[in-house]
Amino acid sequence: MNQDKILSIRNISKTYAHGVQALHNISLELPMGMYGLLGPNGAGKSTLMRTLATLQDPDEGEISFMGIDVINQKEELRKTLGYLPQEFGLYAKAKAEDLLDYFAVLKGITNKAKRKELTESLLKQTNLWEKRKHKVGGFSGGMKQRFGVAIALLGNPKLLIVDEPTAGLDPAERVRFLNLLSELGENSVVILSTHIVEDVSELCTKMAIINEGEILSEGEPIELVNNLHGRIWRSIIQKNAFDTITNQHSVISTRLLSGKTVVHIYSEANPGSNFEMVTPDLEDVYFSAINGHIGKASLNPAL
Ligand code: ADP
Repeated sequence: MNQDKILSIRNISKTYAHGVQALHNISLELPMGMYGLLGPNGAGKSTLMRTLATLQDPDEGEISFMGIDVINQKEELRKTLGYLPQEFGLYAKAKAEDLLDYFAVLKGITNKAKRKELTESLLKQTNLWEKRKHKVGGFSGGMKQRFGVAIALLGNPKLLIVDEPTAGLDPAERVRFLNLLSELGENSVVILSTHIVEDVSELCTKMAIINEGEILSEGEPIELVNNLHGRIWRSIIQKNAFDTITNQHSVISTRLLSGKTVVHIYSEANPGSNFEMVTPDLEDVYFSAINGHIGKASLNPAL
């Protein structure tokens, strides 16, 4: 099988009942490894994740995963799928080890000894072994997310979908969670949807930027950053100069640094002596895409 095309998403569109077009003609090819789907709230990430996870149908388009027609062979796909939704309810009063054992039974693992071995190894892998006798209702956000991964991994999935997993985690929990995910990306396709640029830059070998239901840019993070070279400029300005700058330049982001405002603009030509060229990073790529400076033109023409 072509390693570059393990998961093929072709011309997927979805309009919800009240007329919101959540996905417009999305096409992507995902290889093995960690893939980042980066976009702001409302971009269409969850709609795409739920479609890949066979929880809803698109209006148009096709998806295939290692020879499985995802839309028409849902049961086949589910055998090899792990899905960690944005929010999931847990039986708060159950102990972690009992609950994981229960989900293993639901997955069809009927042999008790096998189940014990599997749940033990998953609780260790997700760093929850010490907490196995604790009730999941008392878990922190990060522990709940890691427990969600343990559940998602029960069937040894080849496709793992994690929807906005780091939202609401504190920095230490976030790092622990991302490390766990990165271990899983070696022999499976792991799709991580997020609005946090660092999640993608730290972990993913390939990525796409999505906004308003459309893929704006797609490729390896490093390649997307290199493509932007020479086009991001920075100026440190006083607050009252902000309106003038926005009128004259394509501002892509601003942030405060010691009470001053640091502005990044997109410009193909030298914008003048108040600006210095900066080495772009993935955040510049993201904001350039969201603000319409790089976009569909940079897409692989073969798609
Ligand atoms: P994201 O995950 O990137 O925040 P979503 O896929 O949740 O984006 O939402 C994309 C758009 O579709 C938004 O405008 C949202 O309000 C709308 N939407 C999402 N789910 C539903 C639904 N079940 N019914 C109607 N509209 C929805």
